[in-house]
Amino acid sequence: MCHELLAHQDLLTQLDVEIGDGDHGFNISRGAEAVLEALPQWRHLMDGAFLKALGECVLKHIGGASGALYGTLFLTWGKAVNQGKPIDEAFYLGVVSVERRGKSALGDKTMLDVLVPFAAYWHFDTKALGVEALTIVQHLAETHCENTKHLLAKKGRAAYLGERSVGHIDPGACSSMLALKAAMNGMMEMTNLEQSD
Ligand code: ADP
Ligand code: MG
Repeated sequence: MCHELLAHQDLLTQLDVEIGDGDHGFNISRGAEAVLEALPQWRHLMDGAFLKALGECVLKHIGGASGALYGTLFLTWGKAVNQGKPIDEAFYLGVVSVERRGKSALGDKTMLDVLVPFAAYWHFDTKALGVEALTIVQHLAETHCENTKHLLAKKGRAAYLGERSVGHIDPGACSSMLALKAAMNGMMEMTNLEQSD
């Protein structure tokens, strides 16, 4: 995920130049670099503690609104895992915490336009992310990211542009899409490896 986000820094910058302040590529890259550096120290951690460490690192290193929101997502996800929730339900709760923190919802032209459909699909429709589900999820993330182009921004800096925000993809929706697609690719590779064992 980190490598994929770093590879698309310029795209994220460009999208934020169009409807924000142009720092999303920089913010996300700083976070991705910090996570890559810290990863070796986290290898022994269980899922919940790993997600908590990830959330703290993201909060510390990603500036702007997206840092606070992605940090909240990982921290809540990790907390729910530690409380014994299944991973898909815990992720869903993480996304709900982003909605609360951002006072935003599906359709506001934010990262939530990618995160909410993904979380709902994972939690309510599939549970187990098998190869078929992974392909669907990748397509879902791409479609919903692309779809933010047609939306009018109601939250974040883009909201100041009103009608002028229409016609541009939301930068946060794009970073969420890239991260989710990379995660799905990683899981597919792991599934293929397990099947070939
Ligand atoms: P900033 O807006 O502070 O410059 P970034 O550029 O890093 O921070 O991130 C911008 C992205 O954060 C937006 O494209 C949007 O997806 C997301 N975002 C901003 N405000 C909100 C909010 N209230 N709720 C959900 N997502 C938001
Ligand atoms: Mg910005």
